[in-house]
Amino acid sequence: MKATAVGLAAPFAFAQAPKIETAQLGDNLYLLTGAGGNVIARTGADSVVMVDGGLAQNAGALAQAVAALPNSGPVRTLFNTHWHPEQTGSNEKLGMAGATIIAQENTRLWLQQNITWPWNGQKFKKLAKIAQPNKTFYDKGTLDSGIRYGYISDAAHTDGDLYVYFPQQNVLAVGDAAYGQGWPVVDWWTGGWIGGIVGGLQRIQTVANRDTKIIPAVGPVLSLTDIAAQVEMYGTIYDRLNQMLNKGRGPSEAVEAKPAKEYEAKMGNPDEFIRRSFESLWAYLSPDA
Ligand SMILES: [Zn+2]
Repeated sequence: MKATAVGLAAPFAFAQAPKIETAQLGDNLYLLTGAGGNVIARTGADSVVMVDGGLAQNAGALAQAVAALPNSGPVRTLFNTHWHPEQTGSNEKLGMAGATIIAQENTRLWLQQNITWPWNGQKFKKLAKIAQPNKTFYDKGTLDSGIRYGYISDAAHTDGDLYVYFPQQNVLAVGDAAYGQGWPVVDWWTGGWIGGIVGGLQRIQTVANRDTKIIPAVGPVLSLTDIAAQVEMYGTIYDRLNQMLNKGRGPSEAVEAKPAKEYEAKMGNPDEFIRRSFESLWAYLSPDA
């Protein structure tokens, strides 16, 4: 390769690189933001564990930020909290480097096929074999280091959500089973639904304790108090939508009825969320859907 070509290409690539911020969560445990979704790294000189990997276009910048952490080493283990691109963008790079990629079995199944969301036509390409999770589970597991992980089987966001718990630092990663800001994406095409959002949050309440730092894929660190408030809010909305479903109403009527009225000031416009949530009731509760 000619040296001049590198000289020209480098500034351009640099201009596009995202800014990855890091914050310490506990001993050898860091939160990295800016890669497209929250990422957690547990450092160790001969083994780093990561939870989620950001978007693929940010994988290089994220890898550099992880390598720059104190006491960092090679990434040996990567968790995918679910199949979405904001979580699985480092799979190819780390899979090629020989890392163990852990996911709930349903996540692997989604990553093996092309997916098109019916509500907006967005397309997702299946991952190359090397990028797919190579260690899957159905229920729960524990790493040698004591890190515990388990299936959030309520279908809060997809049908393959997992949590990862770091007991030493009392940190719980929950992916998109809880949102730190804004209304969640209700991905009913791959199994998520409004009832599952409530169920998933209740499950998180049983895994976390009063002092646990709960890390969502989007937004700031949450506490058990925040989760309780979310259970209340989504439970209220779920009940209202259920009543409308039982009266034979449709998604547009549900949006017009403003079932999230008292939360809009804090949470923003809920229309998209309400529409998807109502459709998710159809997917789950209507026998003929
Ligand atoms: Zn997601």
